Amino acid sequence: MTDPILEARGLAKTYSSGGVDVLALRGVDVALAPGEFVAVMGPSGCGKSTLLSLLGGMGRPTAGEVLLAGVRVDQLSETRLALLRRRSIGYVFQFFNLVPTLTVAENVELPVLLAGGSRGQARARREELLALVGIERRDAASPAQLSGGEQQRVAIARALAHRPAVLLADEPTGNLDSASARQVVDVLRHGRGEGQALLLVTHDARVAAAADRVLTMRDGLMVDETRVTPPREVPSLLELEV
Ligand code: ADP
Repeated sequence: MTDPILEARGLAKTYSSGGVDVLALRGVDVALAPGEFVAVMGPSGCGKSTLLSLLGGMGRPTAGEVLLAGVRVDQLSETRLALLRRRSIGYVFQFFNLVPTLTVAENVELPVLLAGGSRGQARARREELLALVGIERRDAASPAQLSGGEQQRVAIARALAHRPAVLLADEPTGNLDSASARQVVDVLRHGRGEGQALLLVTHDARVAAAADRVLTMRDGLMVDETRVTPPREVPSLLELEV
């Protein structure tokens, strides 16, 4: 099998809140191949968002390891972790999280500029991505002027802008009607042929049915795995320097 692009081994996370320890993750192993689409399901509170945030370098595990293209990343300094996120990880949230004071165009261009791209590169990439997600002639709008489905498509364009090797999506269709949800899943899957891996948390069985594998969590553990499609060989998008 292809080497994983993203892997977690024995991942554990305990939150201390008001003197009480919450065991959000209790030893999770997961591996994502380049180009693979994996859905994570499970009841509310079972640790799905925690898993995604640790895989995306947005939090530190209490125990265990996170490897990106075979390189351990959970112990990097904040600065190197931030650089790695800007270069290799795209994140899509349930509530879009677009910057409200920036226009649609500026929201999508920002990751390209943060990754060191020129203004011209940022503009070209923004035009390409907004066309891909079907949001055209709204460049100057502010996010609040768009519908929920449109905002989510802009958020995906933003997450794809720096061509991340891994796309992490936390309930990206949770707030959308089924037609918008279908469009959003199609756009999220777009980069797979080029090696972009997608890990998506969802409550929606129709969304999960579009995945290659479905993982089920309960009480901070992986309890089930269902393969929907056979494994494929696709190239990795990542040339990693950390
Ligand atoms: P899910 O995404 O499956 O709903 P989460 O990862 O959000 O689950 O939460 C797992 C557990 O960790 C829950 O019991 C939740 O209340 C707790 N939790 C999540 N984030 C925090 C936090 N920042 N501080 C304290 N407890 C948290």
